[in-house]
Amino acid sequence: MPKFVYDFTEGNKDLKDLLGGKGANLAEMTNLGLPVPPGFTITTEACRHYLEHGTVPEGLTAEVDAHLAALETAMGKRLGDPTDPLLVSVRSGAKFSMPGMMETVLNIGLNDESVAGLAAQAGDERFAWDSYRRLIQMFGKTVLDIEGELFEDALEAAKRDRGSDDDGDLTADDFRALVATFKGIVRDHAGREFPAEPREQMDLAVKAVFDSWNADRAILYRRQERIPVDLGTAVNICSMVFGNLGQDSGTGVAFTRDPASGQQGIYGDYLQNAQGEDVVAGIRNVVPLTELERIDKASYDELLQIMETLENHYRDMCDIEFTIERGKLWMLQTRVGKRTAAAAFRIACQLWDQGLITADEATDRVTGDQLAQLMFPRFDADRLDGVTRLTKGMNASPGAAVGKAVFTSEKAVALAAEGVDTILVRRETNPDDLAGMVAAQGVLTSRGGKTSHAAVVARGMGKTCVCGAEELEVDVKGGTFIAPGDVVVREGDVVSIDGSTGEVYLGEVPVKHSPVVQYFEGELRASDGDELVQSVHRLMKHADDAARLAVRANADTPEDAARARRFGAQGIGLCRTEHMFLGDRRQLVEQLILAEEPGDREAALAELEPLQRADFTGIFEAMDGLPVTIRLIDPPLHEFLPDLTELSVKVALAGDAASPQDRRLLEAVHRLHEQNPMLGLRGVRLGLVISGLFAMQVRAIAEAAADRKKAGGDPRPEIMIPLVGAVQELEAVREEAERVLAEVAAETGVNVPALIGTMIELPRAALTAGQIAEAAEFFSFGTNDLTQTTWGFSRDDVEAAFFSRYLDLGIFGVSPFETLDRDGVGRLVRIAAEEGRKARPGIKLGICGEHGGDPDSVHFCHETGLDYVSCSPFRVPVARLEAGRAAIEAVASDHR
Ligand code: PEP
Ligand code: MG
Repeated sequence: MPKFVYDFTEGNKDLKDLLGGKGANLAEMTNLGLPVPPGFTITTEACRHYLEHGTVPEGLTAEVDAHLAALETAMGKRLGDPTDPLLVSVRSGAKFSMPGMMETVLNIGLNDESVAGLAAQAGDERFAWDSYRRLIQMFGKTVLDIEGELFEDALEAAKRDRGSDDDGDLTADDFRALVATFKGIVRDHAGREFPAEPREQMDLAVKAVFDSWNADRAILYRRQERIPVDLGTAVNICSMVFGNLGQDSGTGVAFTRDPASGQQGIYGDYLQNAQGEDVVAGIRNVVPLTELERIDKASYDELLQIMETLENHYRDMCDIEFTIERGKLWMLQTRVGKRTAAAAFRIACQLWDQGLITADEATDRVTGDQLAQLMFPRFDADRLDGVTRLTKGMNASPGAAVGKAVFTSEKAVALAAEGVDTILVRRETNPDDLAGMVAAQGVLTSRGGKTSHAAVVARGMGKTCVCGAEELEVDVKGGTFIAPGDVVVREGDVVSIDGSTGEVYLGEVPVKHSPVVQYFEGELRASDGDELVQSVHRLMKHADDAARLAVRANADTPEDAARARRFGAQGIGLCRTEHMFLGDRRQLVEQLILAEEPGDREAALAELEPLQRADFTGIFEAMDGLPVTIRLIDPPLHEFLPDLTELSVKVALAGDAASPQDRRLLEAVHRLHEQNPMLGLRGVRLGLVISGLFAMQVRAIAEAAADRKKAGGDPRPEIMIPLVGAVQELEAVREEAERVLAEVAAETGVNVPALIGTMIELPRAALTAGQIAEAAEFFSFGTNDLTQTTWGFSRDDVEAAFFSRYLDLGIFGVSPFETLDRDGVGRLVRIAAEEGRKARPGIKLGICGEHGGDPDSVHFCHETGLDYVSCSPFRVPVARLEAGRAAIEAVASDHR
């Protein structure tokens, strides 16, 4: 039978799958000899069983009995004993941290008898009754699903009766009365008595933690963070230590480095005479951790020592939760800490310089998503006229966000659905605000420190956040906030928040390039940049050295090509030519389509050809010496014609006066109309049906290349045919293309070799890749269309129509248009790569769908042995970094 319960002495940090992050790290700290209150962990496997069957697995109860008995022996106390009770906390802890998303119940073991024992042991009756009411409150809300506000309101009423707004003024008698009130709330709203039996409390709390895996906010958080839906959570049962036993007690959180900037130092918050939840919830104002030196020097010194031990042991920045009970320090949690993107890059290089990690490890500690965040624009500090600076809060999560102020999560969600940018303004956030935080551009709170819920969650999701802007008076119900100078900001007013500095402005502040983009653009030399730019430079260089995959760009203009090159692209993997038929040239396309005589068509093509040639010349120049893959025209031609309805109305209104041109056009639009244009006359089919069209494009490419060569350049064209499903299609087009290339070589006297290849965008193409490779010198996987055609999903319709439902149902964890579906689409890619290589060893293989800039898909391409990925210019650095990381990870896993 599997083992479902592990004592803290039995686990270790590598057992996160089984024990969750919290449980694994509590075990690791226990083994390091750090002061962790004893306890045990119920595995994620038990949770998965419970979620699947609705009952706990056989054997779990007996195992819990044994571990509880051992814990009681170790502590010399029994759970809920009337004279000296052992109390425990029951905390969730999944493999991936989900801050505040799941449940915790503290002080399990208290009842009408044991509260007296606790009071006697602590010598503090008020503390004991406060602990008891906290238990009923948390238990009521979490386990019995009672509206939390009912308890909050009763607490507020008690404070009002005392004429105070501070819990600290309530007496033992007040808390005793609250216990009675809370029990009444339980009776009225849960239809049962609060369970007095300690073991029943514990068992119900464990089940509630299991159930909280499927709470709405947890589901939403997982989707946001791409955490798999089926992991389940572990449950940690830990003997209680109390930070609320007086001024010599307290609780805090600490980071071994600044999670916002990466700076080394003492970072964290401390709250005297309080329990842990009070800090994380950001409810009460905390003092900086450095104050602890003055409050309790011995604990402070010990904490610093432990922080150093942990950082050296984990070889990474750690975050820590601790409690001091009457001068004795206890570690309640540690983990490798969440950090901002900038901190990630800095910390990786710092640890590399310290010799704690290798260059490979440093590179693998940062991600393409983090790099993408560093490329977001910043506020332009030189253009602040016209906006009002309101205040400065804490720079909790960097970035520049502009939007309409909203005060509720619902409003943020509703406006996001209309495409309106918002800033969610709250006094503090709680886990129920998650949907609004996801929907808003940024989050602004008036209370709470850098470790408050808002800060932790925003940093985790890379969302701009300014927190603890205490000068702001936020009135959520009234939908306003008041800034110093009595400036009233109402719902709908535009505000700008700077998560890097903490500044808050009324009005829209213009944005500019981030220093990292300036560096990629070549406007800022790495050596002139700050620590962040230098860190990015070093890690990018190491990634480039390690990478096997090349990175190209999808670029259709000389400007984009030049930028892509500055960003490190090693060529163009996809130059779409359709935009070259828009604007003034639309007229010529109309002529081409309407041509009745071959002569008319040739005339239109002849006019288009020099225009196309000029387009290509500029791109070859920008990418001199590097491959440029030009895709011949792909979309259905009616996309270049006027809209059917508009034209019908125009002709109908004109009646007899309608021009013959419009009538012919309308006829053509009718004729070319398709029910499913994406599956209609497009791609290679156009080339085979509209004679002369592809030949014109090939001629333009060849002539542009010849011109460049004559001018001393080094053009490297690759001609790509879209939407091929059968080798015969490609053969026909190839023959024509080769003829044109030979003609141009003869005419110009310049021979520029051009590869001819195809996109693989249809399942049939992938499945017959061996045949197609006979006629193709390269394959480029068009995974946008390949995803569309493999799943039968219309790429223009489905994401808005039903993907959110599919994500809810866990049919996929992320849209297959965003991250390549390895099992389905990926399988086709693997088959095509393998069969293509077999038929034509050395065939060049790349990918040019949107997936080329997606981190996970880049790793897939590395693993599948493709030669390059191609993505939009701004994603090129992301793909470079991930290409390096993929190679590093492959080597590391070979060594394991
Ligand atoms: C593709 O289908 O993946 C592709 C790159 O082509 P497009 O997006 O232009 O259809
Ligand atoms: Mg395509």
